[in-house]
Amino acid sequence: MAILVLAEHDNSALKQDTAKVVSAACAIGGDVHVLVVGHQCGAVAQAAQALQGVGQVLHADHSVYQAHLAENVAKLLVELAPNYSHILAAASSVGKDTLPRVAALLDVAQLSEVVGVLHADTFVRPIYAGNALATVQSHDAIKVITVRASAFDAVAQGNNASVVSLDKVFEAKAQLVSQALTVSARPELGNAGIIVSGGRGMGSGENFGMLEQLADKLGAAVGASRAAVDAGYVSNDLQVGQTGKIVAPNLYIAVGISGAIQHLAGMKDAKVIVAINKDPEAPIFQVADYGLVADLFDAVPELIAALD
Ligand code: FAD
Repeated sequence: MAILVLAEHDNSALKQDTAKVVSAACAIGGDVHVLVVGHQCGAVAQAAQALQGVGQVLHADHSVYQAHLAENVAKLLVELAPNYSHILAAASSVGKDTLPRVAALLDVAQLSEVVGVLHADTFVRPIYAGNALATVQSHDAIKVITVRASAFDAVAQGNNASVVSLDKVFEAKAQLVSQALTVSARPELGNAGIIVSGGRGMGSGENFGMLEQLADKLGAAVGASRAAVDAGYVSNDLQVGQTGKIVAPNLYIAVGISGAIQHLAGMKDAKVIVAINKDPEAPIFQVADYGLVADLFDAVPELIAALD
């Protein structure tokens, strides 16, 4: 049994999620290979070599793969698929763009957002916005799986797996015209150890400045509820929840967030949850490890001052 993990990266650095997907691959058992596809991404291949549990790194380096277009990468994965029993990627935007194409081209069912491995063909995945866990078994010869990275611990480094260069180039009709990236000095929401998240209770976009100050003191990322995003307080890439990002930081501070199930679906796996809300009946207090019933406009400045 051999398992292929699609590495996620920006051509210069390997994303931490890949080490977590490798951990899921190791739980399946078998020979784990990592595919690094991109352009001038030798440093990424080296980082993948160092991951414990990886037997081989496949390195496809070509200008065609510069933008990691799912159309091209999926074709490469399909070409490699007959050698593998499982193809895994993180359930990130990249994984969710690429793997369904692979599953469709291979005519197999995809297993999405896997959070547990029971057996090589049996997996656990959330359903109903995380309110229930389904155990699913696949009889497909090749199992195409997206992994919820936050459910797995990253494998350690210290390996030196062999690297095989691939020269197959697949170019689909799609082209990247442009991309507008949000540049932030704060950690990325998906990988942050601490997240300070604001909801409708923040009242305005300007008031989010307060949470940014708090986040900077803590080295945290800033998140938001959908109500805060829909009200235009912050951009939608900050949204946490069922239709936003799924996060599992060590510490999640929810400020002025009521705790609707769709929000909880994105953050309830945080190790420690702190809630600040003026309503003692707010459902967020049912999942919070520490709850502060207070007006956020008093509590947050006090917290910032205390951290000074
Ligand atoms: P509210 O529910 O309005 O809560 C605001 C809270 O702030 C209240 O508890 C209030 O007591 C508190 N507050 C107000 N003023 C203060 C103050 N001065 N000091 C302290 N506390 C104060 N939501 C998400 O977040 N993420 C999702 O991904 C998501 N996906 C969805 C998908 C679907 C299909 C649907 C139907 C809904 C989805 N929602 C999602 C929306 C979700 O149902 C809630 O509407 C939303 O989470 C509410 O956001 P909120 O807690 O910020 O706002």
